[in-house]
Amino acid sequence: MVITTTVTGSDEYVHCTFASRYARDPISRFKMPESSMPKEAAYQVVNDELMLDGNPRLNLASFVTTWMEPECEKLMMSSVNKNYVDMDEYPVTTELQNRCVNMIAHLFHAPVGDDETAIGVGTVGSSEAIMLAGLAFKRKWQARRREQGKPCDNPNIVTGANVQVCWEKFARYFEVELKEVKLQEGCYVMDPCKAVDMVDENTICVAAILGSTLTGEFEDVKLLNELLTKKNEETGWDVPIHVDAASGGFIAPFIYPDLEWDFRLPLVKSINVSGHKYGLVYPGVGWVVWRSKADLPEELIFHINYLGSDQPTFTLNFSKGSSQIIAQYYQFIRLGFEGYKSIMENCQDNARMLREGIADTGHFEIVSKEVGVPLVAFSLKDTTRYSVFDISESLRRFGWIVPAYTMPPDAEHVAVLRVVIREEFSHSLADRLITDMKKVLEELDQLPPRETTKVTRVNAVVDETQSGRRGSVHPVKKSVSQAQREVVSYWRRISDKKTSGVC
Ligand SMILES: *Cc1c(COP(=O)(O)O)cnc(C)c1O
Repeated sequence: MVITTTVTGSDEYVHCTFASRYARDPISRFKMPESSMPKEAAYQVVNDELMLDGNPRLNLASFVTTWMEPECEKLMMSSVNKNYVDMDEYPVTTELQNRCVNMIAHLFHAPVGDDETAIGVGTVGSSEAIMLAGLAFKRKWQARRREQGKPCDNPNIVTGANVQVCWEKFARYFEVELKEVKLQEGCYVMDPCKAVDMVDENTICVAAILGSTLTGEFEDVKLLNELLTKKNEETGWDVPIHVDAASGGFIAPFIYPDLEWDFRLPLVKSINVSGHKYGLVYPGVGWVVWRSKADLPEELIFHINYLGSDQPTFTLNFSKGSSQIIAQYYQFIRLGFEGYKSIMENCQDNARMLREGIADTGHFEIVSKEVGVPLVAFSLKDTTRYSVFDISESLRRFGWIVPAYTMPPDAEHVAVLRVVIREEFSHSLADRLITDMKKVLEELDQLPPRETTKVTRVNAVVDETQSGRRGSVHPVKKSVSQAQREVVSYWRRISDKKTSGVC
């Protein structure tokens, strides 16, 4: 914003940007500034700083929605000031969330009658949904053990080592041991046979993933259900299944309707799905639905008598926005089954095209499967010259954000790049990406062979952020930017520990 202003006591007209006067001194980063500034200046200062963020539309690392129709954005903006938890004041919003829960429950074949209410709740994302589902399993298991007069202080949960980090959070926060089925080169999902082998009397549930975060592959829930039923019969246990359908829950029903992964399988007691992934809503909204009332222990439901009416709630926090719930309802009625189906088919077509383009370069092994979440995960055939991390870094120059990461145990030696195909990632963008990828490969192919590649590169990246820029001379006194970088890298180290930032 350029504003012409007259400097008092001078005849001169000075042209300056409104905010530059306020930005001349460094903006306070850690302490609240002493004085106020005009709203236009604050806007410009914040907006200018945000320009240095990546462009969400080019962020191919994320499953999370980055585009919605203007009509829906209008609805969202007009409800940003509604606190979702004030259900008595905003009964229509509550009603819309209930309709969404019912629509999702039916989509996942929950055994509810047409005029029956499904059991489920809207959450901030799949993470909260998973905490709630896990907690329900833990309480059900504890109650059963108490009835049997057996100890109930050592619960565990069985998953593949490819689980998303929120399962580790659940395990740590709610004191449940996480028993992970190890992966191996060539198989990057949980093997149902190995999972069932790890089940014991203290297992609160086996969690299967519909759409592994790392490769998009669907785990075989049907086989898991079969094997676990057999084991339950043999042992007299009652170990259930949870399906983490964060990304696949809005893919499978539309393009693989015959795939049995949901409540059609008797042991599946709860399912989570991210509304802000292929549910096509901006972050953050997720959903968890239970098979029936009996699968959600009554003791976890709070009945708050808030402002005059009984409101059953089962969420981890109290206040939150309403916009995402309203947006989810908009998408359901706007698109309908037909609309979702066509969008998902389109994503699948673009994924196929991108996969072929990437394979045609001759440099890569495709790691993702054709059936699954629309993404392409691929590894380098020859890692002696450069690594996938170098490719990821070079693509950044063109604006593309393509994450590179190593696989979990026991496949840590495999490093991949991953491109997630969202609704707005068009055919022409896919074309463009392949062109830029070829340029990057051409450049990198000129480099002399290097010795340290692969996994060591991950540590190098961490070291770099820790000690400032590579090769720079470190001043004794920390600059503000250095201090800030250290704060950022401290948090990054904590959050990157396992999944190196893919979400
Ligand atoms: C994204 C994802 C999560 C976490 O979901 P949020 O909605 O981001 O909280 C959990 N599990 C899987 C498989 C995921 O892909």
